[in-house]
Amino acid sequence: MKDLHIISGQTVALPKTAYQARHFINGVAQDSVDGRKSDRISPSHGVVVSQAALGSEVEAEAAITAARAAFDDGRWSRLSGKARATVLNKVADLIEVNVEKLALIETLESGKPISQARGECGGAADLWRYAASLARTSHGDSHNTLGADILAVVLKEPIGVVSIITPWNFPFWILSQKLPFALAAGCTCVVKPSEVTPSTTAMLAEMLVEAGLPAGVCNIVLGYGSPVGSLMTAHADVDMVTFTGSTAVGKLITKRAGDTLKKVALELGGKNPQVIFPNCDLEGAADAVTFGIYFNVGQCCNSSSRIIVHEDIADAFVTRVVELSRQVAFGNPLHPDTQVGAIVTPEHATKIDSYVRAAVAAGAKVCIGGHSLTIPGLGDQFYQPTVMRGVTPDMVIAREEVFGPVLVVLTFGTLEEAIQLTNDATYGLSAGIWCDDISTCLEFSRRAQAGTVWTNTWMDGFPEVAFGGVKQSGQGREIGAYGFDEFLEVKSLVMRVGSTRAPWVKKA
Ligand code: NAD
Repeated sequence: MKDLHIISGQTVALPKTAYQARHFINGVAQDSVDGRKSDRISPSHGVVVSQAALGSEVEAEAAITAARAAFDDGRWSRLSGKARATVLNKVADLIEVNVEKLALIETLESGKPISQARGECGGAADLWRYAASLARTSHGDSHNTLGADILAVVLKEPIGVVSIITPWNFPFWILSQKLPFALAAGCTCVVKPSEVTPSTTAMLAEMLVEAGLPAGVCNIVLGYGSPVGSLMTAHADVDMVTFTGSTAVGKLITKRAGDTLKKVALELGGKNPQVIFPNCDLEGAADAVTFGIYFNVGQCCNSSSRIIVHEDIADAFVTRVVELSRQVAFGNPLHPDTQVGAIVTPEHATKIDSYVRAAVAAGAKVCIGGHSLTIPGLGDQFYQPTVMRGVTPDMVIAREEVFGPVLVVLTFGTLEEAIQLTNDATYGLSAGIWCDDISTCLEFSRRAQAGTVWTNTWMDGFPEVAFGGVKQSGQGREIGAYGFDEFLEVKSLVMRVGSTRAPWVKKA
């Protein structure tokens, strides 16, 4: 612990009062009918950051009814793309105006560093602007080659009422990967953030009103997965569920949604490898590996929680990653220099540690870290940067998502072995390769079973570029034109425009 880079001080003050997060149903901010609330205690500062209304089926039902009515009467779905884009662009402007407020509460609820919360919330404005551009440019197809008498057009129409269920690790970013795209398509929505990080989603409601979004088009219900999320998943008036979260809950959602055959889009977990060849920018790769495992305390779907390093360079490469791990600034999320903050809940911290203990019992070796960390004045909900060797591909720690700052190292000799190890996973979210040889990069990229492959970089993303997973990392795509299309139905319109149709019934 002594040789880690720990920051205990802070430059941003704690808010004087807890934020009051309320539901937003049919354009009205409201508490639960039964008055229930839950307190969110900051993982880094131990204070009550927010008190959030705790919804029940009553609020979920009211929100779905409002979204259904708003969709069916066309108050949003039948507006022009230009009118929808105008609202979305205003929301983007308001997000930028409110970045500091959003970032502070996001930091205190999640434990992430303030600099990253600012990047997440401020950067989300770009997703809203990109979605606004799609609202204006979306179009279907025409078929003018079907003969002189027939013209066919394929229309794209909003899918209807969309349930949006989000996790705690990037609450505002993931909301913004879904909501503006659904709204751009003309859908109406019911949103449920994680019970652990409800506030930035609740804060967005005020911006939606100010931007001129009609009442009922976006409804927000706060509360637990059951009963709120489960009703949003099963309800017959909902046409689609888009969910980001754990693979276990994703499977439950698919089952429940099956009863009404609604569309389901899932963004789930990952066990994402970076493959390191000797002929690459090794310093750049070591930095990307360090970033890939400690960013958001390793609580990212895209964390590169396993690396597959060529056996000739494995010792030197791991030594360098361990050195860099000591330099990463851990500690108080309210200091601008902090790079790694607190673990989101005590239960999650215990889960991370139990993965490490089990790996050690199975024969793995800890190169650095391996224990929780107490920071003076901030408590014990931190975990040391951890790198583990002596890990075999069959160990639990090499296969399951730890969702913490714990890196495991595997080694390979040939490209075939690297590809085999990459694909030896139930997940398939993302993968990366570091190599100077473009043919090797392309061979790997084409054969890796993953929704995204990065070559000589890690975790670069853009609103234009689709994101999602294969295998048990999900189904469907988010962002980009492909993500936008998930919120659209296709309708074929076939028109006879010339002579009358030849009769089928032979005249007597
Ligand atoms: P989680 O699955 O526990 O919860 C996610 C959301 O689902 C929360 O809002 C929760 O209240 C709700 N929920 C829980 N049970 C439900 C049910 N029965 N029906 C409907 N909704 C229910 O996930 P989490 O712990 O909040 O987030 C961490 C997980 O999210 C990790 O596995 C991570 O990999 C994944 N994730 C994936 C991506 C991606 O894009 N692929 C991005 C971020 C996080």
